[in-house]
Amino acid sequence: MCCPLEPTVRILSKLRYRAAVLVTVSGAMLSILMSGPAAAFTVFACEPEWAALTRVMLPDARVHVATHSLQDPHHIEARPALIAQLRQADLAVCTGASLEAGWLPKLLQRSGNAKVQDVLFASDHVNMIDPQPGAIGTPWAGDVHAEGNPHVHLDPRNLLLVANALAARLQVQIPTQKAAIEKRRVAFEVRWKSQLTQWQQRAIPLRGRQVAAQHTTFGYLWDWLGIKQTADLEPTTGMAPTPGHLQRLLSGLQAKPPMAVVVAGYQDSRPGKWLTGQLGSGVPLLVLPATVSEDADAEGLIRWVDNMLSSLLGVALS
Ligand SMILES: [Zn+2]
Repeated sequence: MCCPLEPTVRILSKLRYRAAVLVTVSGAMLSILMSGPAAAFTVFACEPEWAALTRVMLPDARVHVATHSLQDPHHIEARPALIAQLRQADLAVCTGASLEAGWLPKLLQRSGNAKVQDVLFASDHVNMIDPQPGAIGTPWAGDVHAEGNPHVHLDPRNLLLVANALAARLQVQIPTQKAAIEKRRVAFEVRWKSQLTQWQQRAIPLRGRQVAAQHTTFGYLWDWLGIKQTADLEPTTGMAPTPGHLQRLLSGLQAKPPMAVVVAGYQDSRPGKWLTGQLGSGVPLLVLPATVSEDADAEGLIRWVDNMLSSLLGVALS
């Protein structure tokens, strides 16, 4: 007797439940539609070598690269496209040691992106060479590398150290991928160490050889290979070569000819051409790429080191 209305109540209650479920599901669908698929982790790399290491550790990452191998990384314009890229990033990976002092601070400030302010600087994770305590860098009028030589990626052993630091940072920022990143890090380490052994074996004929070079771009490469840079085409680090300085270098180089005059792909090759012209056919001009291409990954890094070694050995063994 109690419940003639009970079926009606139950029906109403079910309808309300279904309506509630429908509202909840529609809300969820709407929020999925509005937010789109999960955004890829985005990395802003100041130089292509750090972009390459990022691809090794996080192949699904969206990677923006601020510079390419034909640009001088000391002198980049803080243009709006770079600010927009940095604004979208979850992490910035750069060289540090003041290499980007002329442009990165401006980009970081103008991006207004709190996530990228704690930049991962490669130079914090390696042993620097050429320290110049007390020097003050002035990026446009001659960078003096006040904190030491920032071109740390030219020693392939450093790439391994930076890869480890990058993996550690990514694991903190993307905990759900911790195991996967560790797996890739170990695989890269095994492969890179095997490459280092092969390269070092191959490079034995380069030990003790001498080169003249423009800037200290390849300083770490010379250290790794046991090559000595006996002359710098720049009068002081970061200042463009001058006729007077080249003339002064000439007599020393004529007395003790280097195996080559080396310039980076992004540098003006005319001073080097003049010098090799004066030194005669025994001393070639060697233009080496200072870094990998913008889309490089582990293969690109290996090809790059391979090519530099082949070029140097081609001259040393000729
Ligand atoms: Zn430099």
